[in-house]
Amino acid sequence: MQISKNFVLEEFTKSMTATRFGIKNIPNKEELINLEDLCYEILEPCRAFFQKPIRISSGFRSLSLNQKLGSSDTSQHISGKAVDFEINGVSNMVVACWLRDNVNFDQLILEYYTGEPNSGWIHISFDSKDTNRKEVLVFDGKSYKPNLPDKKIINNNVVDLSKKTI
Ligand SMILES: [Zn+2]
Repeated sequence: MQISKNFVLEEFTKSMTATRFGIKNIPNKEELINLEDLCYEILEPCRAFFQKPIRISSGFRSLSLNQKLGSSDTSQHISGKAVDFEINGVSNMVVACWLRDNVNFDQLILEYYTGEPNSGWIHISFDSKDTNRKEVLVFDGKSYKPNLPDKKIINNNVVDLSKKTI
């Protein structure tokens, strides 16, 4: 089922764990609307800028799937408000900087980023335009730190981004 120009619902619901354990992972109407908001507010603009497919590793998670994955019951993945993704060939740091500066979001986390361009992935959520916290965090596998690190690298990347040379 197509939910926006470039995204289908299956990309958000597909889960090896759900398949393996026979866990139902289908959003209700409200959760589906949240996934559509993620597409229109965040994923489509990001895809349009980088001109590359977005690879979603985790989108919607039913409560039982989320529990099976060992994630917190407060995770925004449960309501379809959060997505984890990567873009092949683009550093997650560059993607994170672009998102921070160009989309409206609730929480943006650069997850398991070690400094290697391919390390980790992006977690981003959208609540609503009125309630989004615009919180930016980096998680290195041990602890969460506020904001994206190393301003110099960020600025260089932003310059590259605006020229679309990456
Ligand atoms: Zn996530």
